[in-house]
Amino acid sequence: MEYDYKSLLERAREKIPENVKAHERFEMPNPQILYEGNITVIRNFADIADRINREQRHIMAYLMKEIGTSGNMDGRRALFKGRVMSRQIENKINDYIKTFVLCSECGKPDTHLEKEGRILILKCDACGAHRPVTAVITKTTEPVVSEGKTYDVMIEGISRRGDGMVRLDRYTVFVPSTTKGSKVKIKIEKISGNVAFAHVVE
Ligand SMILES: [Zn+2]
Repeated sequence: MEYDYKSLLERAREKIPENVKAHERFEMPNPQILYEGNITVIRNFADIADRINREQRHIMAYLMKEIGTSGNMDGRRALFKGRVMSRQIENKINDYIKTFVLCSECGKPDTHLEKEGRILILKCDACGAHRPVTAVITKTTEPVVSEGKTYDVMIEGISRRGDGMVRLDRYTVFVPSTTKGSKVKIKIEKISGNVAFAHVVE
């Protein structure tokens, strides 16, 4: 039997006791991601920074390091070199917020960072708790395309055989029965060298 991610999440939620749910009040921001050629754009980057009350520069440095690409800010937007999958960006922003923003005692985002010597301390303005920021920045394992995984993509072209094509990481993915420009959720069926075959699941 198969469950989609949403229903799995809902099932997991149902199993979380009430007192844990209470800590969950902060809703993670939704990055609006789009692609301009080979550039990945977070359209609402400055809005996210404002909302979590952190410096754009700091978030940017974190994301570049974690994603392993270069980037720059462009007005309210953030640009990254290459096509970074939206799921990876979402995960990294969430990781940033968990590490540098949310109080681990009360779960609120009303915090600020202070340097004590060489150590960065996260201080909570809501409950007074503080903790050192252990930015044990884990190397990303996310974007690697693998069989059985699903991805949100936009079909970029059509092959000679008439299948839709999209570039994911270092793979060219063929998706039958799609048209150029259509946004679809695909599931990877098979990978062969730098080529992958997928079908539309939504
Ligand atoms: Zn707190």
